[in-house]
Amino acid sequence: MGSNTIDIRENVPLAALTTFGVGGPARYFVQVSSENEAVAALAFARERDLDHIALGGGSNVLISDEGFSGLVILNRIKGLTVEEADGNVLAHVGSGEDWQDFTDLCVARDWQGVECLAGIPGTVGASPIQNVGAYGQEVAQVISRVRCLNTDTGKAVTFDNETCAFRYRESIFNTGEAGKYLVLCVTFKLKRGGAPVLKYRELEAYLSGIPSPSLADVRDAVIAIRAGKGVLIRTGYESFKSAGSFFKNPIVTQAQFKHIESLVGGHAGPTNWAWPMPNGDVKISAAWLIQRSGFDRGYRKGAVGISPHHPLILINGAEASAREIVDFAAAMQQRILDRFGVLLKPEARLIGFSSSPFSALP
Ligand SMILES: Cc1cc2nc3c(=O)[nH]c(=O)nc-3n(C[C@H](O)[C@H](O)[C@H](O)COP(=O)(O)OP(=O)(O)OC[C@H]3O[C@@H](n4cnc5c(N)ncnc54)[C@H](O)[C@@H]3O)c2cc1C
Repeated sequence: MGSNTIDIRENVPLAALTTFGVGGPARYFVQVSSENEAVAALAFARERDLDHIALGGGSNVLISDEGFSGLVILNRIKGLTVEEADGNVLAHVGSGEDWQDFTDLCVARDWQGVECLAGIPGTVGASPIQNVGAYGQEVAQVISRVRCLNTDTGKAVTFDNETCAFRYRESIFNTGEAGKYLVLCVTFKLKRGGAPVLKYRELEAYLSGIPSPSLADVRDAVIAIRAGKGVLIRTGYESFKSAGSFFKNPIVTQAQFKHIESLVGGHAGPTNWAWPMPNGDVKISAAWLIQRSGFDRGYRKGAVGISPHHPLILINGAEASAREIVDFAAAMQQRILDRFGVLLKPEARLIGFSSSPFSALP
């Protein structure tokens, strides 16, 4: 079925378009490579009163076994233009560009700002959605603007950094305004020749033998650390079918933190599983809570399991169904809630489920 310039297909399998490798088909499916095509795709959905979702690299989604009953818009909008601005570089990047290619390009051109985010799979357009972060950097630190289509009107709109309301794994795009915007282009403000960021203990330790690490040293270290954890989806490296971290690190109040400390025979002072936030709350390592609840690395139940390298990564070990993955995750979530009173929330986006598949979630 054609619609203007776009090629709408029906009943298209989605599993192979995701890193988890599960999920049923899209009732309607279209690949877009330009703003005009994205406008036409959204008009198609609007005219038929269909739900729609954007899909980039499929590395942060869990699609239900029934699939998605609306229109899936596979984003492949490319392009890069560069401006100079007071010693900084403004890079305007098409949302369908590959994130790993972009970080490699920044390091190669000596643009500082995303070197610790190397090796994260997915597209540039998804990076602001959950404010991707790793090894001491978050993309919010370098995003200057995000140009989007309003999915209700099909009109373009540009948000500055502040309006995106970035927080830990959050922005307006996955909270209050979720699904209302399709990201077309992201503008990054990067420092030409800037010194790399070294704020993460594991990364600092890895680079301790190098007196003044370059951006390339930092990028290479991040890639090597990721490879060692099996979270590098690149040719030549071992990885698992997963969506990366399945749960977010929970943020709790001081009182809750003290309660958790008391449960584990706590002690005052710094820990390697909890980090104070500027407002006094405390971010807790979800991986630590998972391990302390009896779920070890490599634990397996049927076709679903926990990565042998990282407790936070659920893997599709064989031909798992989405239902099996969700049931596995829900059991973990319930045990951690019972043990610590902390509700882990999924980081991966759940698509095509009629209601929240997690009983513990509202
Ligand atoms: C092995 C592995 C390691 C990972 N490591 C990290 C990590 O270190 N840090 C981290 O933060 N994340 C990590 N992730 C998660 C994931 O890579 C990121 O969230 C990434 O940004 C997702 O990009 P994507 O293009 O694959 O998005 P998708 O999975 O395709 O989509 C994710 C969400 O964004 C929406 N979306 C996608 N594109 C657009 C668009 N153009 N406009 C509007 N909405 C859009 C989708 O509708 C969906 O809700 C990891 C994942 C894996 C599999």
